[in-house]
Amino acid sequence: MYYLGIDIGGTGLKAGLVDEAGTIIARKSVPVDAKHPDFDHYLAEELASLTKQLLFENDLSVNDIPYVGIGVPGPCDDKNGLFLFAPNLPVRNMELRRLFQEQLDIPVRLGNDANCAALGEYRVGAGKQYSSMVLITLGTGVGTGIILDGKMWTGCNGVGAEGGHMVVRPGGLECGCGRKGCFEVYASASGLIRMAVEQMRNDKDSLLWSLADGAEENVTGRIVFRAAEEKDPTAEKVLDEYIDVLSEGCLDIINLLQPEVVVLGGGISGASDALLLEPLRERTYGRDMAKYSLPKTTIVKAELGNDAGIIGAAFLGA
Ligand SMILES: [Zn+2]
Repeated sequence: MYYLGIDIGGTGLKAGLVDEAGTIIARKSVPVDAKHPDFDHYLAEELASLTKQLLFENDLSVNDIPYVGIGVPGPCDDKNGLFLFAPNLPVRNMELRRLFQEQLDIPVRLGNDANCAALGEYRVGAGKQYSSMVLITLGTGVGTGIILDGKMWTGCNGVGAEGGHMVVRPGGLECGCGRKGCFEVYASASGLIRMAVEQMRNDKDSLLWSLADGAEENVTGRIVFRAAEEKDPTAEKVLDEYIDVLSEGCLDIINLLQPEVVVLGGGISGASDALLLEPLRERTYGRDMAKYSLPKTTIVKAELGNDAGIIGAAFLGA
């Protein structure tokens, strides 16, 4: 038995053929044209053709997979087969399942990309020995996925588990969702970069300037961590603030759910333990409501990298 998962990103479609153990045994990707005039039909056709090619190249047919799992970069409604909307793609209430099935007659399961990543980590990655897990993906935005007693929690309408929009700085900066001070605005890689640029302006001698070749637009999350490694005081201050806000978000999640594990994923999670995981644990453990309880939530790093989305999508119906 094989599974097929596709991860729809803002710039490309990545498909993988996954075996029962969760290993991607073949993969294929194509770019996505977000400006296509008939985006709905175009996307469904691309997804179906990617599926057909991947099966064909591996001597398989649609009868060898139970369904196609698709992870979408925004809220979706798996029950009704709808891709509701996406911040980076021209999508509004797209009937993705129906359009896909017009091309290829096979069951289709839909999941939000952050939830798919959580399911992937839960099945074969950092969450595999636990029954409850929350994945926090620290990328361009902040995505969260919740697994409770082995099941993905997506709310009554499929739009739940949006931990990126918990408010951690009331009255703070405006978020794309319309509220102010959301976790995503501060804990995303974009948030870290924004904080670093603000602080650099007050410190012309900061190592951040030379690592960024003197230009604010060259600052990346990696540069901030590298400067902090070199003990640059401004970078250390920025990271201190970043870990602080990250800890507030983790505490909200832990207090609400007390999952066995919180898994950190996304580009930022590639930072060294000494700069990210250790100070985060130090600031989070013992400040939650389970001070006097056992067992306690542990915070660990994700293990599957960018593959989590494909693997989770593949397992959406399994
Ligand atoms: Zn928000």
